Amino acid sequence: MSEQQEIRIGVYVCRCGINIAGVLDTTEETGLVKFAKTLPHVAYATDNISFCTTAGAAVIQESIEENNLNRIVVAA
Ligand code: SF4
Repeated sequence: MSEQQEIRIGVYVCRCGINIAGVLDTTEETGLVKFAKTLPHVAYATDNISFCTTAGAAVIQESIEENNLNRIVVAA
């Protein structure tokens, strides 16, 4: 019998400056990040001003390692 790996999903909601954040609530307090955390198998969720920058990519990489994520969704 094969060992089943726990599904641990990371969700990354990009604000794209104000391009997305100006029309959608991406926040952890009241918005998309808060909702994402209620979904099955989501172990981590955050938003960021820009995930396509070096700094944004580093946020993704570090959180994958820190939270043992094995799947990610980038909403951008
Ligand atoms: S990843 Fe896409 S949505 Fe986010 S800042 Fe870059 S271009 Fe904008």
